[in-house]
Parts: sequence; C-alpha cells; structure tokens
Amino acid sequence: MSTLDNMLEEINKANSIVILTHENPDGDAVGTALALYNALKQYGKNPDIIIPEYPQIFAFLANAQEIKKESEVEKYDLAISVDCSDIKRLNGFAKYFEDAKSKIVIDHHSTNTMFGDINFVNPDAPACAQIMLVILEHFNIEVTQDIGTCILTGIITDTGGFKYQGVTPETFEFVAWLLNRGINVSKVYRKVLQIKTKPNFELTRNANNRLEFLEDGRVAYTYITKKDEEEVHAQNGDHEGIVEIGRDVENVEVSIFIRETDEGCKVSMRSNEYVNVSDVCLMFGGGGHQRAAGVLMQGSIEQVKEKLLYQVRGQLK
Ligand code: 5GP
Ligand code: MN
Repeated sequence: MSTLDNMLEEINKANSIVILTHENPDGDAVGTALALYNALKQYGKNPDIIIPEYPQIFAFLANAQEIKKESEVEKYDLAISVDCSDIKRLNGFAKYFEDAKSKIVIDHHSTNTMFGDINFVNPDAPACAQIMLVILEHFNIEVTQDIGTCILTGIITDTGGFKYQGVTPETFEFVAWLLNRGINVSKVYRKVLQIKTKPNFELTRNANNRLEFLEDGRVAYTYITKKDEEEVHAQNGDHEGIVEIGRDVENVEVSIFIRETDEGCKVSMRSNEYVNVSDVCLMFGGGGHQRAAGVLMQGSIEQVKEKLLYQVRGQLK
C-alpha cells in the first residue's frame, strides 16, 4: 500500500482529527491547513484546526473563522501537521500532536525530521500547498473554488508570486486549471502578496533605513526591535517581506534579517545563487530551504549578527 493509501486509511479510521501547522504561520501554512480542513469536511469528517495566531490578511480564506486557538480534546485519534519541518516549530501546540494516537506529517522542507508515524515529505515541491493538491487528487476529493483558493494562496506566497527556484510545470498547470474554473488569480495574488498593512509598511521603512551592506556588498543585513514593533502596533506577520529587500540588491548573495522577540532573536535568511542558508541555520538549531531559512537564537541582536556572519563568511566565494 502506498503512503497516501495508508494516510487515507488513518483518516477513515479516526473519529477525531486535528490539523496543525508551524508557529508564525505564513500563507503556505494557513492556506494548506485550511485546504485540508475544508477538504476533510467535504469528505464527511469533522476535524479541528488549531492555529493560535495568524496574519489577518488570510482571514478571507474559506472557514478561517473556524480556526481555533486551543482545544479541550485531550487525545485526538489523528493529528496532521502541515508545512512544518520539526516538532519544535509546532511550539505550544505540539502537545496535540504528541498526544494523538496516530500522527501524519505533510511537508516540503528538506530539513524535515520525519516526526510523524506517516511522513509525506517532498522537498522538490515549491509549496506545501502543491503537495496538498496531489494528496486531494489521490483521495478523489473535489478541489472546489474554496479549496483551490486556499491552495493558490500557499503557492503564491511560498513562491514569491511564481518567481522562486523550485516552481515546477505543475505549478503553472494548476494555476491554468484554476483560471479555467473562473478563480480570480489576480485578485488572490493582490490580497495575499501585494497589499501591505500599514505597520508592515512602517517596519519596512525602518528596516530599509538601517540596511547595511557587508562583505564587499555580498551580504545585506538589517533588523527590527521589539520597540519598533510596539511603536507601529505590529501584529502577527507584519515583518513579512523585509528579508527580501536586501536580497534584491545587485551583488548581494545573502540577506540576513533579525527580529527581536520575547523568545529571542528570530533570524530570517535568504540567498540568491550558491550559499546554503539552511545549512547555516541548521548549525544553530533552525532549518528551512537552501535559499530561505530561519532560526531562533539567544543573545543580543549584535551578538547574533556576528555569529551568523562568521558562518556566512566561510561560504562566500
Ligand atoms: P522565514 O524567514 O520566512 O520565517 O522562513 C524561511 C523558511 O525557513 C521557511 O520555510 C520556514 O519554515 C523555515 N524556518 C524559519 N524559521 C525556522 C526555524 O526556527 N526552524 C526551522 N527548522 N525552520 C525555520
Ligand atoms: Mn511552506
């Protein structure tokens, strides 16, 4: 039996199902989780979806209002984690996963630790949402406009609007298929990728002013503090996109963005051609993809910057 057949058998058997994703969820995390939620409801199941906090730009997705912050259920029959590479990143809600009788992991991170009983992980997929599409097709669950929009959200956000490496022919085939069904791709694109919140705009302005070019212009570096976020009343997700700015300047190979949080310094890294930022983050306990990765580190912003630069320097050509 294939992995997907096993997965469907677990879903069929389960009376209670919970869907989870990583902390600080992005469009791929929320979109894939809601696609699965809506699909399982259509299939006749009554799952829970638990995401304590998520960016409100995704609140228009079908049944986003049913997302729970927590649950009273002590032990689910089945827990499904999407777009999450390691159990640590489920953070405070990892308990729902750990306590579940059966555990499924669906993901596209090359650093995935295979923490489920069933793991369906494809690092070649540009977005976890694209894997979800394959799964739903295998399960013969109809991809309605609502589900299609959730999946499209994941693909658009994780590919930076179809422009990152990793975009596959299937990505465009799927978008063509959606267009044929009358889904307004341009409207979704604008909603999930282009429109900025006011706090995001203000934080970006700040980060721009501070941006430094190091190592002969091959590294771009910037940061924002807790105070910056308080001043603009930033909400979950309002720092998104800042790390991309430095990467898009000529000759830059690596962009480093540090965000001060209550838990420590949250690092985002991006590269253009050859530096494997996932390796750098993995060294400090994080992970991600070759060209986009992250890690949570302890110490001051300045100390974290120096530790990262030391490792990046070794990889620069
Ligand atoms: P971002 O910089 O957009 O937060 O994350 C870039 C990529 O790295 C995403 O695929 C994200 O899932 C992954 N990532 C970010 N932070 C961490 C982390 O602390 N640990 C791991 N394993 N992956 C991370
Ligand atoms: Mn993703």
